[in-house]
Amino acid sequence: MSEPETVLPPAPGADDYLALDFANSAIAVPGGQFVDLLGTPAAANRWLTGRGLAPADAGVREMCATQLRSLREHVRGLLAARVAGLPALPSALSAVNDALSRAPTAALLYWDEKNGPYRAAPCPTNEILDRALAALAANAADLLTGPDADRLTLCGSAPCNRYLLRHGRRHWCSTRCGDRARAARAYARRTQPARP
Ligand SMILES: [Zn+2]
Repeated sequence: MSEPETVLPPAPGADDYLALDFANSAIAVPGGQFVDLLGTPAAANRWLTGRGLAPADAGVREMCATQLRSLREHVRGLLAARVAGLPALPSALSAVNDALSRAPTAALLYWDEKNGPYRAAPCPTNEILDRALAALAANAADLLTGPDADRLTLCGSAPCNRYLLRHGRRHWCSTRCGDRARAARAYARRTQPARP
């Protein structure tokens, strides 16, 4: 399978904001195709490892990948609300806040039937994933409340679904999307009757 990540360069701003990179990890490509970089546990593990959020052998399982994809949809919902100037969905807000508060800070209290109470860190995979979810959620919160939020926009070249930070009037995520949008406009001009 081709990795669109290597084909499409990161959208403007995605190098600065992990949350943008995260939101753009399910990519709509022309022809109705959809490529999900978090589509399988192995792919999700690779994606996290590539961003320093998990070791290569973290052992991400389907449940973890599902949690990541779910948080991504909520983050995309918040980005969409910010771009449209609409109120956020309460469910998206609480999902991001839930992820934010997941970063484990202390060993938890457990109670063993035989030996009584003891403290232990949660299982390593959970801890890694919780830290990753917290980092991604924190970055989304930074992006939405920071000075760059006004430059946030959705790529203007259908069917592309990547978010980016606008520079000047440019509102495409990549040269390829810009070329496609220009070609579509030129085609529309040729095929539509001239307006009086
Ligand atoms: Zn695009």
